[in-house]
Amino acid sequence: MSELLISWVRSANSSKTVFPLNNLPYCIFTSANRKFHFGVGIGDQILDVTATAEAFGIPSAVVQTGEWNSFMGLGREKWASFRKSLIKSLAVGSNDQVNLSTHLINRLDAQLHMPFKVTEFTDFYAGRQHATNVGTMFRGPENALPPNWLHIPIGYNGRASSVVISGTEIFRPRGQLKGPNDNVPHFGLSKRFDFELELGAIVGNSSEHQISVDQADANIFGYVLLNDWSARDIQAWEYQPLGPFQAKASATTVSPWIVTAEALKPFRTNTPQREFPLLEHIKDTGPMLFDIDLEVDLVTTEGEKSTVTKTNYKEMYYSSAQQLAHHTACGCPMRIGDLLGSGTISGKSKDSRGSMLELSWGGKEPILISENVSRSFLKDGDTVIMRGCAKSENYKIGFGSCIGQVLLSLIHISEPTRQEAISYAVFCL
Ligand code: CA
Repeated sequence: MSELLISWVRSANSSKTVFPLNNLPYCIFTSANRKFHFGVGIGDQILDVTATAEAFGIPSAVVQTGEWNSFMGLGREKWASFRKSLIKSLAVGSNDQVNLSTHLINRLDAQLHMPFKVTEFTDFYAGRQHATNVGTMFRGPENALPPNWLHIPIGYNGRASSVVISGTEIFRPRGQLKGPNDNVPHFGLSKRFDFELELGAIVGNSSEHQISVDQADANIFGYVLLNDWSARDIQAWEYQPLGPFQAKASATTVSPWIVTAEALKPFRTNTPQREFPLLEHIKDTGPMLFDIDLEVDLVTTEGEKSTVTKTNYKEMYYSSAQQLAHHTACGCPMRIGDLLGSGTISGKSKDSRGSMLELSWGGKEPILISENVSRSFLKDGDTVIMRGCAKSENYKIGFGSCIGQVLLSLIHISEPTRQEAISYAVFCL
């Protein structure tokens, strides 16, 4: 495992920081006199890349866009040389200290924005334990995994338009519902609104045709935490035979820092043993997953807080590189800014399940948040906080957090739905 790189930014050397010189995650930020600037996280500071672009050989037009897509477009060699220059310039003893220190902003003085434009969004279903849990609930333990599951990473084309940055309010979705005891469907608010803990991979290099797993791996620019908000009751009625649609389209939240694939390199782990060998186009070519600890906190509208999930990204059955390679197999072009959701990340133990559907086992076993508060699904006012961190003996690579509060929108809805919303709000309290 590699050593902690020592920086002249002192906070980056603290054993507590998750943004040491080894990490250098990318963001877009606004502060008192800067608007939508490119930034790099270092300790408790942000280095203003827009103001220092010239020193790093980045054309000024690239940093005027307010989206890291333009930088990704410079190509993989530039990704590598920029990171190398950053590490050199921010390392202790660097000649650049005097110049660069005037371009540091305290992280607390900056507002973070979407770090990249999401071109398209695809979500996968690649956590074996998650698929087993959900399949067991819906189809019984004998038929938990669909017959294709161990052979291909299953996914669906999602919505880029509703991917939002951490901190954006999340409105409880409405949709067509039909419970097991209903004779006919009705339109109303989702009462089984849920989170899904995932990692999002960002494609940084476009491709026109099928690419190999190794090419796919090299095309992934970085990763973010991802919450795939899910309306389970809408999903249960709509999902057969074409999979999720409205249940997943209301919102997807991502964390504001892009942690580069390069920073995660020391944390690579092997994919699991395969029951069936994978076909050549998605075969593992080396350690393709990452050892990243993941947690979900739930802060309820009553003010109670509990860590409801602790799991790890290495639980996945398919890596992002395999998902991306599979995505291109039919000849599907991929674009800079394409976002691939990993699929819900659940471990084997009960407290490592990555969604409330699994944690409460379909609502049958409510999760105890405190002595008097429990949850099966999310109530209005509840806040979901996801965190991720890769840890070695010498340093930590953090993702920051991915936060969303569930709210009830009374705007633009019909009178019967408004009445239902009000009665539901009362019911929730
Ligand atoms: Ca998902």
